[in-house]
Amino acid sequence: MDCPNDKTPMNQIPAGISKKTNRPYPAFWSCPTCKHTENVTPDEKFVQNEYPHETEKREAKEQTRQDSIIRQHSQHMAMLWFQARGIENFMDEELTERINWFDKDVEDHTK
Ligand SMILES: [Zn+2]
Repeated sequence: MDCPNDKTPMNQIPAGISKKTNRPYPAFWSCPTCKHTENVTPDEKFVQNEYPHETEKREAKEQTRQDSIIRQHSQHMAMLWFQARGIENFMDEELTERINWFDKDVEDHTK
């Protein structure tokens, strides 16, 4: 967008944390000439209009969810593995080992 004062193309300033106040601020437009600022409207989606710590939190949550899905899948696969071999009284360690083995298998495939 152009500055309403001097028609200079304004810069996108991504959301961040203020070094002065330590508080998060949303993305905004800044004019390099007169330092005029404008808020970013929600439909201007090319700017990262999300506080960085929120992005991190969301990604961490997504990763945890992904991990638990993989873990569940591996557990299921491990049980099937023992079942298929007619092994009924396996040790917890053996089960854990087998689960980890399937975990690793999934990781190798998703890389
Ligand atoms: Zn300006």
